[in-house]
Amino acid sequence: MEIRSLSGVGDIRAKLLEKKGINTVEDLLYFFPRNYEDRSFRKNITDCCPGEEILIKAVIVTGIKETRIRKNMTLYTMTVGDDTGIMNVTWYNCNFVKRIFKKGDHYYFYGRINPNSSKKEMLTPVYEPVGKEKFTGKIIPIYPLWGNLTQKFIQKIMSEALEKCGKFEEYLPQGIMDEYNLCDINHAIKNIHFPNSFEAFERARNRLVFEELFILQTALLCRKETLKQIRRKPFENTECVYDFLKLLPFEMTGAQKNACWDIMSDFKKDIPMNRLIQGDVGSGKTAVAAAAMYVAVKNGYQAAIMAPTEILAGQHYKSFCGFFEKTDIKICLLTSSTKKKKALYEDIKQQKYDIIIGTHALISEGVEYAKLGLVIADEQHRFGVKQRAKLSAKGEDVHTLIMTATPIPRTLALILYGDLDISVIDELPPGRIPVKTYAVGEDMRKRIYLFLEKNLKEGMQCYVVCPLIEETSKNDLKNAVQIHQKMQRIFYNYVVGLIHGKMKPQEKDEIMTRFARGEINILVSTTVIEVGVNVPNSNIMIIENAERFGLSQLHQLRGRVGRGQNQAFCILFAHGSNEIIKKRMEIMCTSNDGFYVSEEDLKLRGPGDFFGTRQHGLPELKIANLFSDMKILKNAQKAAKTIVDNNNNLLSKNTLLAEKIKNLFQEDIASN
Ligand code: ADP
Ligand code: MG
Repeated sequence: MEIRSLSGVGDIRAKLLEKKGINTVEDLLYFFPRNYEDRSFRKNITDCCPGEEILIKAVIVTGIKETRIRKNMTLYTMTVGDDTGIMNVTWYNCNFVKRIFKKGDHYYFYGRINPNSSKKEMLTPVYEPVGKEKFTGKIIPIYPLWGNLTQKFIQKIMSEALEKCGKFEEYLPQGIMDEYNLCDINHAIKNIHFPNSFEAFERARNRLVFEELFILQTALLCRKETLKQIRRKPFENTECVYDFLKLLPFEMTGAQKNACWDIMSDFKKDIPMNRLIQGDVGSGKTAVAAAAMYVAVKNGYQAAIMAPTEILAGQHYKSFCGFFEKTDIKICLLTSSTKKKKALYEDIKQQKYDIIIGTHALISEGVEYAKLGLVIADEQHRFGVKQRAKLSAKGEDVHTLIMTATPIPRTLALILYGDLDISVIDELPPGRIPVKTYAVGEDMRKRIYLFLEKNLKEGMQCYVVCPLIEETSKNDLKNAVQIHQKMQRIFYNYVVGLIHGKMKPQEKDEIMTRFARGEINILVSTTVIEVGVNVPNSNIMIIENAERFGLSQLHQLRGRVGRGQNQAFCILFAHGSNEIIKKRMEIMCTSNDGFYVSEEDLKLRGPGDFFGTRQHGLPELKIANLFSDMKILKNAQKAAKTIVDNNNNLLSKNTLLAEKIKNLFQEDIASN
């Protein structure tokens, strides 16, 4: 049903809704609350506790008192009472309340009791006159807001959508609903928005979480099934991997070798490889990729590796040229800034190149490969499932290897990457000195800069990472441009570079190359340096507004330093004193283990702040929390298995379920 059929939704609001993927009334109903207010439970004033959000019913005892406490800040306070006591009710800068409330009127107030006041005080409550209540007595959904949409507006269209939209058709098989005690879809949708009770909400949520994970699981398992049916010619010579190991300037770690053996055993099979290599930053995934490519080339195939950024593609190009220096293997680089593309395309088509390194350009229309046998996607979290498929489709039944540095707990990996086999590189090359991490406040800035200067004097280099590129009027995030100017002023004896995502690829490359050559001492950047780039001489990483980053992302960033012989430091400038921020920073300071960090990250993310599935190239989860919903996830996986096992060619069936599964990977998931 057209979203514009809801009252108050015209072109402008429809556009806004579209931003969150809401195009129809049905989509809207799948946009879930982030929280609820319980306006069904009322307390007497005397029983209200500091800090709690609660409903009271009271009569207005005094008129509104207006107090200007400073410029742009006026308090509006009145006293209300019930049979048990009195309390103050306060709003900030809301002069219209003066016109609303009259002494003697009866109202419901819902709001938070000031935790910092010794007197009873309710802050900025919502209110309804007694006898005319609409929300009082109910559990009220609170939605995420964006643009200039208001809570009231979304609540209103949601309730209208529920009335107007015809019923959803049930598509979960009855057997599964019985087995896992799931409520039906319409009951779930109604009660996730406007629950009749908390029990009804729990049941609704349970069903919707199950549904979401079940579809994801079924889709992944179907994909695996389909892939398993493809046959290809095995590689005849996998022994040559030993020749490659001799080319390396170092001995592979045990974990690197194990990953190589996994790949070799895949190569020997008559079905295409679909393997994920998970390894912490700096664990040496590139060498493993090179080994796989070497073997593919020695078996007469071309091999391609796709990196998420030009910088990274360029760096791989250099590493591979180094690895293969003493061989006759021909390597080329193909990115969107490559000149004379046509000629290069022709050479690739003629198999004049064995190894093709590039970015998204590798999957563009014009590229044809002579004999593509192996495709590698590096730092996979930037690529969607769909893009991977597009690259694989450039060859016949190609082997696919995906490498990611975003570690997730193994149990979860097995479930999330249901369509892939997994190898884990859980060992770092010897001789690495762990990065020392400190979380500091502004008061430490001077000392940090002195420390930085000392290191610069000794010839070391430094990264400064900022969360945003330009200042927006709404927040005061330190932005890269501003920090760059400031660092230039302070460190005027040194070269301070700036790199950010809005630069042209060539500009970025140039800056990065100069930094790698040591011509730039301090590199201020946004997160474009997040993945892969290797500059062993940099030993300090300063992260501004560290509280704005996810822990896994901070860990990735930190992995940029500590690749050389010197002790490396990661300095997190964190603002805000909230407990979660403190806890998050503490985790960063006490652990260098990416798996541990990501597990803790998962635990600390509340509902609504769902685990970054997008980062993993999977569709964004709307309601499930992969940590706290682990039990439902396991059930969903079990159910998906039964369905896939008993329903050959589920995808070819024209059921609602099959359609949902097909749609899942349709949306393009790339974030880059
Ligand atoms: P990542 O897994 O983050 O992609 P890289 O492949 O970039 O890590 O490797 C990081 C650095 O470690 C590179 O400079 C690489 O040459 C080096 N390296 C990789 N494996 C080994 C090893 N077994 N022994 C010593 N150095 C290694
Ligand atoms: Mg890498």
